[in-house]
Amino acid sequence: MAEGTATTLENGIAVSRARWKYLDNILNRSGPFTDPDSFEPGETIAESLARAKVLVIGAGGLGCEILKNLALSGFKDIHVIDMDTIDVSNLNRQFLFRQADVGSYKADVAAKFVEKRVKGVKITPYCGKIQDKDEEYYMQFAMVVCGLDSIEARRWINATLVGMVDEENPDSMKPLVDGGTEGFKGQARVIFPTMTSCIECQLDMHAPRAAVPLCTLATIPRQPQHCIEWAHIIAWDEERKDITLDTDDPEHITWLYQKALKRAQEFNISGVTYSMTQGVVKNIIPAIASTNAIVAASCCNEAFKIATNTNPFLGYPGTDNYMMYTGDESIYTYTFEHQKKADCPVCNPDALARPLTVSTALTLQEFRDTLAEKPELQLKKTSIRSEAKTLYYVQPASLEEQTRHNLDKKLSELVEDGEEVAITDPAFPTLVFKYKLTFN
Ligand SMILES: [Zn+2]
Repeated sequence: MAEGTATTLENGIAVSRARWKYLDNILNRSGPFTDPDSFEPGETIAESLARAKVLVIGAGGLGCEILKNLALSGFKDIHVIDMDTIDVSNLNRQFLFRQADVGSYKADVAAKFVEKRVKGVKITPYCGKIQDKDEEYYMQFAMVVCGLDSIEARRWINATLVGMVDEENPDSMKPLVDGGTEGFKGQARVIFPTMTSCIECQLDMHAPRAAVPLCTLATIPRQPQHCIEWAHIIAWDEERKDITLDTDDPEHITWLYQKALKRAQEFNISGVTYSMTQGVVKNIIPAIASTNAIVAASCCNEAFKIATNTNPFLGYPGTDNYMMYTGDESIYTYTFEHQKKADCPVCNPDALARPLTVSTALTLQEFRDTLAEKPELQLKKTSIRSEAKTLYYVQPASLEEQTRHNLDKKLSELVEDGEEVAITDPAFPTLVFKYKLTFN
């Protein structure tokens, strides 16, 4: 039979080999990058790819792309976790879902769709949180591919995978391929837990967006967004103080839009639109389907290369592990090696406390607020204890009540200069963030 017309039986269904022609070309031949010690072309490698159990976290914008790509790359045993249900606003880019699926679980629908379209692929969905699963569950996978929009979930799975590594057991090291997008920007990175820099090491790469200084808004706006923020923060308070702003009320958005437009005209700034007003006020970052496609493709290529050893991949020790993509000003990509941090609380739980200078005027509550904004921390529900005592605990409720009175006290009254504090957050139960405080 001529190449491309041969059929094989997969799950009893005749499947044309043509679909896998290009995959076969890669798997059945040695290439300029293949290492004879780790790659032998032929059946065995295709079989091990088919047997590799991969976990996909997230079945949304990136997840749909990742599931489709992995299935079409020769992976046949894929698991997917997502806790969300399908919303009508997902349908423009989450292409595995249809109108009739609105309200159903993403993981369920995505799994069925891909199984139907790519015969021979098994996709096992779990509709729930990653935190529901324990180490034993994660241990069954060859690797984890993340397509998440939550930093918190990424940090959790990162800490879990790093914590699972047992030096005596090479199988306990699960490569983590992580994709992320924000509008026209995105990144793909690979983490080999304990060997390379981890998501916690890289946390300051994803700093919360800096607020525009109020003086810029009040005096010299430079961008259309500044005019919208001015209408939102200043004009509304001045003119409509008695009305609570409801960002879902079209009349309120229209009011803000017209105010912003007028101010923009005064400063000769163009570009203020109704939908931009809505986006800025509701803090919406547009999801761009093509950014998702690019980042997911990059992640799946890395997953394929890690599983088959056909080509060098990101995260190979001592090499690049992070690819950033920027599409908002023309196109730019840059790939580099992000270094492991010596004081990373995930990679090195025994690291010395990080030094931190704080103002003597800060109350404990104000200090907690700064912890939420610090790029390398981003912790929202912190419990804090000093070497000598418990300063504040968010849970259990009884302890919260007992320590609540400390929140209004000055931190400098509670902690000695040079003393260490340990900060924890229930979102990351295994992590302790240590700081050595100096007051000024
Ligand atoms: Zn780390």
